[in-house]
Amino acid sequence: MRLYDTLSRQDRELKPVDGSSYRFYCCGPTVYGPAHIGNFRTFVLQDVFRRAIETGGMRSFHVRNITDVDDKTIRDSQAAGKPLAEFTAHWRDRFHADCEALNCLSPHVEPGAVDHIPQQVSMIERLVAKGNAYVSDDGSVYFKISSFPEYGKLSHLDTRELSLGKTQEARGNADEYDKDSLADFVLWKARRPEDGENFWPSPWGEGRPGWHLECSAMIEEYLGDEFDMHSGGEDLVFPHHENEIAQSRCACGGNFAAHWFHPTHLLVDGGKMSKSLGNLYTIDDLKEKGFSAMEVRYVLIGAHYRKQLNFTLDSLTAAREALSKLGKASRGLAARAGDGHVLGDAGFGPFQSAWDALNDDLNTPGCLGGIFTGLRDCADLEGEAAAKALAGLNRILRALGLTLPEEAAAADVPEDIKALADERWAARSAKDWAKSDSLRDQLAGLGWVVKDSPEGYELNPN
Ligand code: AMP
Ligand code: ZN
Repeated sequence: MRLYDTLSRQDRELKPVDGSSYRFYCCGPTVYGPAHIGNFRTFVLQDVFRRAIETGGMRSFHVRNITDVDDKTIRDSQAAGKPLAEFTAHWRDRFHADCEALNCLSPHVEPGAVDHIPQQVSMIERLVAKGNAYVSDDGSVYFKISSFPEYGKLSHLDTRELSLGKTQEARGNADEYDKDSLADFVLWKARRPEDGENFWPSPWGEGRPGWHLECSAMIEEYLGDEFDMHSGGEDLVFPHHENEIAQSRCACGGNFAAHWFHPTHLLVDGGKMSKSLGNLYTIDDLKEKGFSAMEVRYVLIGAHYRKQLNFTLDSLTAAREALSKLGKASRGLAARAGDGHVLGDAGFGPFQSAWDALNDDLNTPGCLGGIFTGLRDCADLEGEAAAKALAGLNRILRALGLTLPEEAAAADVPEDIKALADERWAARSAKDWAKSDSLRDQLAGLGWVVKDSPEGYELNPN
């Protein structure tokens, strides 16, 4: 596979540093609420990446952290009146449930920041000892950017005009700070009253680690000082990943990540997601509107990862149609394959171009297009030839993490009943509850019961 690398700004061939398995790290979720579909664009694309390299025969080792202590988790656990660990465990479990619904593989290791405080303290001690970090009057510790001349290489700071800030101290050392200035960033935050019970001992007094540090410490623990790839959404390039590089290279010495993979942000209705605009969707929000997580996954892989993807509810309806077409085609192939079977590895058959697209900078829309083109060549296949094509189809679908819907049960429903039910579904999707209820009653009067599910409705005779 060739993949664009943010650092060298080139497509590069993937090669495991240790010659055996591809070891990579993804910045994980901050667990203070449900993840939104923007977060899931990044996580789903990382999942497709992993599935693709595994389908190509590489072994993978996937590490993704859980940010379970930072400004936001502390603030919101206190607002909820819950201990931090209980609060974050709830949102971590919800994240896992969403990942499962989206058919994302679990990482091989999923470390949490709170369980790795000693590793973080050790890293800061080394940075202080080497002169890369200094202790401020209040017992906080800062990384000294001027001590690492390579700072800024990943985000190409030399091409941007950034004002040079002093330290974050002046700005209340927030985990996420102003992206328009360079600042010595915080590694250890001295205990403050608003932290409540959330503090740990350290050589510099009680406090807690800064957000950027946790990834560096967990990478050292699980991947060492050199590994194959690091990934996160584009917003993490600067300052988060820049800060990780500075911390890790100075504390551990190695080359850190060999490749950087940054999916572009998801937009909704052409703009940023925000609660106030009512377009910040979670998987549950979309399920409530009648869409399945698999339809969301289809939309999220429908654009190339280096292009912005504009999410709309209409795109989910289109995804439903596409998945249903794929389901039909797959059932047709299975029927025509009969008891024809495939011996050994049949490759991708008619879906070779779909597979090639995936290996060319993870071109997921190209891959989906290739699947539909490949299906056109399958129309006349029978027996073993159909079985081989079906094996190729299943293989490419597994690489994308797509599962297909079962056959709709409502084959014997009269046209006029189906039309009423469709009208009701449209009303329900548009939240026109009155109309949807009255159509349900009308259908009941005609002897049909409607049952709704995330995949759509089901019609059964009364
Ligand atoms: P967070 O939980 O905020 O730490 O973010 C988890 C992941 O989601 C990170 O890799 C972010 O870069 C990514 N992310 C956040 N917002 C978006 C978005 N709108 N589109 C794509 N990825 C995003
Ligand atoms: Zn990180």
